[in-house]
Amino acid sequence: MVGWVLANSVGAPALTPSKEGLSSEPGSKHALPSLSMYSELPGSEISIEEFEQAALDRLRVLKGLDDLKAKGFRPDQVQDKVLSLVDQYLKAATRESTIRKDTVSHYVLRLAYCRTEELRRWFLAQECDLFRARFRALLPGEQRAFIEGNRLPFRPLTPAEFREVEDDLRATMLAVTGSLQQTNALFQGAAAPHEAFYRAPFEAVPDLVGSRRVYLRAGHAYVSRDQAVSLAVQPFRAALSKALVTTARRWSQVVGPSEAHRLAPIVESLSQRYLGPDYSDPEKRGVTGQVAASDIPRLAQESFPLCMQVMAQALHESHHLKHDGRMQLGLFLKGIGLPLEEAVRFWRAEMAATAPGEKFDKEFLYNVRHNYGKEGNRRDYTPYTCSKIIASVPGVGQVHGCPFRTFGPDALRSAISRLQVTPAKVDEACAKAKAGHFQLACAAVWEGKHGCSCETGINHPNQYFEESQKVLHGEQQPGGPGLSQSQGVSTANPAPAGASPLPASVQPHTKHARVA
Ligand code: SF4
Repeated sequence: MVGWVLANSVGAPALTPSKEGLSSEPGSKHALPSLSMYSELPGSEISIEEFEQAALDRLRVLKGLDDLKAKGFRPDQVQDKVLSLVDQYLKAATRESTIRKDTVSHYVLRLAYCRTEELRRWFLAQECDLFRARFRALLPGEQRAFIEGNRLPFRPLTPAEFREVEDDLRATMLAVTGSLQQTNALFQGAAAPHEAFYRAPFEAVPDLVGSRRVYLRAGHAYVSRDQAVSLAVQPFRAALSKALVTTARRWSQVVGPSEAHRLAPIVESLSQRYLGPDYSDPEKRGVTGQVAASDIPRLAQESFPLCMQVMAQALHESHHLKHDGRMQLGLFLKGIGLPLEEAVRFWRAEMAATAPGEKFDKEFLYNVRHNYGKEGNRRDYTPYTCSKIIASVPGVGQVHGCPFRTFGPDALRSAISRLQVTPAKVDEACAKAKAGHFQLACAAVWEGKHGCSCETGINHPNQYFEESQKVLHGEQQPGGPGLSQSQGVSTANPAPAGASPLPASVQPHTKHARVA
């Protein structure tokens, strides 16, 4: 069990005291029963399993939110999707357990994401966007109760203050909304019109001031209730930012060392976690033996992601891959269902020109068997995730890693073009890669090849492969679950004959069933 003395010792956020999170009123679109400033720590002990699971579930929400932004969704489109992610991952059986999960998961991720400036920046951005979406989903009365309940330094106008600025407010809101109807609705919607506006120091709403969407007078901003999210998110951001720095200091000095064997490994691995399906055990997934060495050239052409195509091509041309490349490609092949004996056949044939006969047995056979847990510590190694591949930087003479990250713009464009992807998708993939969104670039290529959209994104080379095979073999129709027809791409684009990175030169002695 983990006592929350741990979290206390790493510093709670320096927010003003608050009451418990705000309950949603009937009619609210809020996905959870409470919105919180996280100023109070979870009050009871928690099991290690709950500690980890809650954090992973929140991470799914935050990563989903980040993906949506990277895909260029507008805030109003993100709003509903974020709430459904919250509903999917953070909602528990009861109101109390949902509040607890929300709070616990937030605090665990604070620990996980406080350790570097980059992690802090990412976590802060996602948490603020999540807070913003959840605050927007509150009804006006709930928003007001939240601001007042958390003693945020803003207050509604008094009737006298309102009368003094009413004309200017009307003019400003008309200019901001561009609609007389909307402006009237704002003034007439509240039971008392003065309560539809808050007065705040202008520095509390830099986004509204910067975009000239607020009336300013004597150092104060007059914020409409439609803009109240800006009022609430600024103190949330400031408090969380400060708490993350405090937490980082306490974690590295006190808690991390004392929890080195229990919590630290969990906490420190959270930011690296792969959250997609498990491709570690092809036998459990029932795919072992579905691929033979002779299938690899065809499958590479049909369904390998670019990282694996590049390595398969390099192996076939130079008859050699350095250790990291052999691991990356070898484990991927194991994950798609290539059994050990076929893997040995494949590698032996591909490396025959540089490592014939006994040389292969002496220098490379051990490595192939090791990947399958048959040598050394007998660990059954797991196919690499996209994050792991993207993080690896190939040295001179190496070809592993993610081409969307490692290739220069021209080389990348020409590599993608060889995959027979539509020009629009080539442009999209190159633009995403240039912006550092490597997995989105890969998803664009997948879409360009298959003629349907990849809404789940690409998180794993084996996921790329499996989704591709499902579409090509009719198990997954364009428009089915997780995939939908992509505009502007009408047909799949099979590579032309001869475009395979691997000619069918590998002739196995036994034949296995093909991938369905
Ligand atoms: S995004 Fe993932 S699957 Fe795609 S090329 Fe990079 S590492 Fe491979």
